[in-house]
Amino acid sequence: MKILLISPTWKREVGTKRHRRHRLFKTPPHNLLIIAALTPKDVEIEIIDEHIEPIDFNKDVDLVGITTMTATSPRAYEIADRFREKGIPVVLGGIHATALPQEAAQHADAVVIGEAEASWQKLLQDLGEGGKESLARFYENSHRPDPSEIPIPKRSLVAKKGYLLTRFLQLSRGCPFNCNFCSVSKFFGEKYRFRPIKKVMEEIKGMVGKPLGTRFLGFLDDNIVGNIAYARELFRALIPYNLLWIGQSSINIARHEDVLELAAASGCRGLFIGFESISEASLGEAHKSQNKIRFYEKAIKKIHQFGITIEGAFIFGFDHDDKTVFRKTVKFIEKVKLEAIQFSILTPLPGTKLHEKLEEEGRIIDRDWSNYDLAHAVFQPKLMTPEELKKGLDWAYPRIYTLSSIFKRLTGLLRGRRWKYLAPILTFNLGYRRTVRGPKGVEAS
Ligand code: SF4
Repeated sequence: MKILLISPTWKREVGTKRHRRHRLFKTPPHNLLIIAALTPKDVEIEIIDEHIEPIDFNKDVDLVGITTMTATSPRAYEIADRFREKGIPVVLGGIHATALPQEAAQHADAVVIGEAEASWQKLLQDLGEGGKESLARFYENSHRPDPSEIPIPKRSLVAKKGYLLTRFLQLSRGCPFNCNFCSVSKFFGEKYRFRPIKKVMEEIKGMVGKPLGTRFLGFLDDNIVGNIAYARELFRALIPYNLLWIGQSSINIARHEDVLELAAASGCRGLFIGFESISEASLGEAHKSQNKIRFYEKAIKKIHQFGITIEGAFIFGFDHDDKTVFRKTVKFIEKVKLEAIQFSILTPLPGTKLHEKLEEEGRIIDRDWSNYDLAHAVFQPKLMTPEELKKGLDWAYPRIYTLSSIFKRLTGLLRGRRWKYLAPILTFNLGYRRTVRGPKGVEAS
């Protein structure tokens, strides 16, 4: 049997700045590497990541599997329709297909709902036994997979595709928080499920130890310190390997000095942190009250003291945000000297509480899923117009990556133990600057 697994790109005609940025900071499609690892060894598998390579629709395959996010779903459906016209069965999975399985089913022979472990093997068994007529419409596990059964991703399938960074790992699934704009808890459940440290270390040992490039790792988890005891154990286990790693964390890591110390000793050089907003009211509205704004400045200083750089994520468009939010946020970021920044527009992804709320209030104004890329205003904000929200983002992004802003922010690196990262972080900022510079946005007030 031959299977083609596809990670689709954003719809081509949208061609947003975000799309270009995605191409620059591309990482392999981890979920498809897991699917490949779950597939029996005698099955031939190819992975196409449409962000970096075109799809050959004339490929002779027995099954096409396509992963979906909301913004990529229109393109996923186009691809699915084209393969199905040729009589090739298509399976859709991923976050969007899980949120809207009935919609996905209109373009697929089968839909995998939720995590693929067990469902995928059952689907392949059905296909092998009776062809596409034997496929069920939906495949869904009756219980969440045991994290100890998550296989090591089949990275060999993307080894020669030219990704800048390839060694990404996942330690856990699920999240106990319930931020109203986020679909993680809906897709992976409301409890953290951690892979055993022993298994994680086996995976790491299989990847490191060769040239310098292999010392670099990235952790994909939304919060690497979701369980402090687990984080301590992991960081201690990493120390002997002399690694360099980046990951995502909640700001609460700064409340545990010993964990910061262990993280730094184990090679942590950068954390992606979702600050989301500098307004207490907006965080309350998003149900992200675990973030405390009065703690932000102190926490950032503390993390910096341990030689760890920060990429901060901020969202615009909460009901408490007016047109001043863009300028205030930029000012805050320059004051606390974050090394990199990601801005988004609040987006009511299907399956989230935010989507339900805005739907109920009749405020969703755009149902073209390809615009749900966190860079378009697809709902009616409370204190500005959708156009002002979009223009605000288009002003703030290039503004925070102007040379003077980069200079202001990166002077922070000259303090503490972080000066040696100046060259790579400056290069990273200049790369970001290239991708976010577009037509001039309107000045936010
Ligand atoms: S935004 Fe982060 S903390 Fe909030 S629910 Fe999503 S993964 Fe959890």
